[in-house]
Amino acid sequence: MLNIVIFGAPGSGKGTQSAKLVEEYHLKHLSTGDILREEIKAGTELGKLADSYMSKGHLVPDGLVIDILDSLIGKHANAKGFIFDGFPRTLAQGEALSKMLEKHGEDIDVVLSLEVDEEELIDRLLKRGQISGRKDDNRETIESRLKVYHTQTEPLKDFYRRRGILKNIEGIGSIDEIFNSIEKEIDRIEK
Ligand code: AMP
Repeated sequence: MLNIVIFGAPGSGKGTQSAKLVEEYHLKHLSTGDILREEIKAGTELGKLADSYMSKGHLVPDGLVIDILDSLIGKHANAKGFIFDGFPRTLAQGEALSKMLEKHGEDIDVVLSLEVDEEELIDRLLKRGQISGRKDDNRETIESRLKVYHTQTEPLKDFYRRRGILKNIEGIGSIDEIFNSIEKEIDRIEK
């Protein structure tokens, strides 16, 4: 299996690059944000609970997202590999992900961290809000999400750097330029 974590702040291009990775490497894309938005759309209890956090720009509790991921990894045990997009977002999730993969004799091969400066992130998210109408892409919620990213999610970079699997990717440029840098990193590790 080839297991990739696509990492970065909100607006860094994780979803866009994940779509290209799926096309090129035929991996199973697991985006916790997409899964939670589907739950909200379907009006499930989980969706209602998740929405109460997401609409404020807060993280959904670890236990909920870890359970979702655990069952999806089990369900797709025959996949060629996974792209984890928007997960992990806390150290607890990072530790849980390693344990979940270990159960299947697997590990994370690489963590690709898309590096984009704050000004560009805000700009992209405000634009996305206008186009997609995503409810959490408004200035107030964006600020909260960026704060949450710096305090709760960014410490994961050290966690993965210490394991020697963190790769920083310049996240500014054309979609194809950025994808080229990603491909180079993956080709280095592909088994
Ligand atoms: P995203 O689409 O990845 O930007 O996620 C949108 C929102 O979903 C986030 O701001 C969080 O509220 C929630 N969310 C997505 N993934 C996670 C996660 N791994 N842990 C906690 N909350 C999450």
